[in-house]
Amino acid sequence: MTQPIAIALHGGAGVLTPGLLNKADEQAIHHALLQALKAGVAVLEGGGSSLDAVQASVVELEECPWFNAGKGAVFTHTGDHELDAAIMNGANLEAGAVAGVHHVRNPILGARAVMEHSEHVLLAGVGADLFLSQQPDLEHVSNEWYDTPLRRRQWAAQQQQPETVSLEPGGVEKKFGTVGAVALDQYGHVAAATSTGGITNKRYGRVGDSPLIGSGTWADDRSAAISATGHGEFFIRTVVGHNIASRVRLVGESLEQACEQVVLGELKAIGGNGGVVAVSPAGETVLSF
Ligand code: ASP
Repeated sequence: MTQPIAIALHGGAGVLTPGLLNKADEQAIHHALLQALKAGVAVLEGGGSSLDAVQASVVELEECPWFNAGKGAVFTHTGDHELDAAIMNGANLEAGAVAGVHHVRNPILGARAVMEHSEHVLLAGVGADLFLSQQPDLEHVSNEWYDTPLRRRQWAAQQQQPETVSLEPGGVEKKFGTVGAVALDQYGHVAAATSTGGITNKRYGRVGDSPLIGSGTWADDRSAAISATGHGEFFIRTVVGHNIASRVRLVGESLEQACEQVVLGELKAIGGNGGVVAVSPAGETVLSF
């Protein structure tokens, strides 16, 4: 009997809100998502691992200027880009992440390098930049390379407003565009990957949930792989990824129930919004937003 394979992606919460984009732009985003899906499926169908599949999908989305990850990342308050990413292997709980990095072309490949070529899980800021610069297989870019006119406009608009981030839905639509993928391979292993520029106009070295293992990114063959998107502060406080997985593993909730309890219950209760994509080792995929 052939084992199931599965993959699910997200390109952030809200960017495809009807009316916000013209038809051509909307089609370009759909096309990019489809390409990313195909990249992941090709890995899985070729007998590759879920880890390689989520990485392949996220790289595609990082390369697409429409998403807030890699090229197209949002601007910080000081006008540069600080990127966060994480990847996790559900087979052995190995994980790697980078936070606030400035030059790696594909932050998800940086996260994978941390996982495979360092003794650490999460490297941040200039130290992370240094580590990544020493990795022979990674491509590096100037910080301006991530710029896009759309993100610059969003940044300029944000700067007119008093402090940092707003939570009303209109604000969220403009800010999110984080990317993520979860997958199940034919060997029964799940994996998750998430990549983001964070939140427009972020200050003080702010780090969101995406690179925090257990919050924005989590994978464990005993329960599920999860990638989140939304206002990171709330996802950190509700430890969304690990929380969902623990409900499945320890409480016996279905993956769908667990996602709803956390995303529509716990997260909402403290004022958070956004969502997750998740996949179980049985191949059940859940999109909860
Ligand atoms: N969760 C990300 C962060 O807070 C943002 C997003 O998902 O769009 O950094």
